[in-house]
Amino acid sequence: MDIAYLLSTTLIDYPGKVAALGFTTGCNFRCPFCHNCELVLPEKIKKLKLIPENEVLYFLRERRGFLDGLVITGGEPTVQPGLFRFIEKVKGLGLLVKLDTNGSWPEVLEELLDAHLLDYIAMDLKGPAARYDEMAGVHVDMAAITRSIRLIIERAPDYEFRTTTAPTITAKDIKEAVSLIAGAKRYYLQQFVVPPDKDLVDPAWNQKTALPERELRALWEGIKGNFTEGGVR
Ligand code: SF4
Repeated sequence: MDIAYLLSTTLIDYPGKVAALGFTTGCNFRCPFCHNCELVLPEKIKKLKLIPENEVLYFLRERRGFLDGLVITGGEPTVQPGLFRFIEKVKGLGLLVKLDTNGSWPEVLEELLDAHLLDYIAMDLKGPAARYDEMAGVHVDMAAITRSIRLIIERAPDYEFRTTTAPTITAKDIKEAVSLIAGAKRYYLQQFVVPPDKDLVDPAWNQKTALPERELRALWEGIKGNFTEGGVR
């Protein structure tokens, strides 16, 4: 399991829980607005010093009285061949596991759900079907995305869908995108913010503008009736 960073405590990444946050390397998408280049682009991943899995597990074991769980994010964790085995070990410590995913590998989600290894799934909804390839920077199998969405809605113990309102995403795009997650209970619109020291996968997207917060709040008012929970963050 290739983990590049481990944040000892987060109070915001696992709703209602105190969690550690592990960042895995590698991703099968190339979202042009992604600011986690070092976890996505192979030439940048090569320069990272990975944390041995045993060290991550030792850290979690020592902190399990304080932590409720672990959030596994990336990158895209489902591209990791050792994910299942790693999560088994984390669950063996009595910790909850939240997985962040782009939803492109429903087989992995299904295997993990079958084994009751996930407590919370957060899946990115990149945009409306017609713009998915553009927003992901690669060709996306929409049947896989739809299958992940249905699996999560029907079988995840808890979950959320979220859209980073990246540059060029419009209110119309969001209204179309939410039709993909019909029946979901929780959805968030995430403001597009690039940390000062981060590069985008496609630097040209720095010049494009994203919807401002007030427009996102107005947009949420128009779609919130589809969900029992959610909002703008
Ligand atoms: S934003 Fe896109 S490219 Fe970046 S880690 Fe997530 S899915 Fe991969």
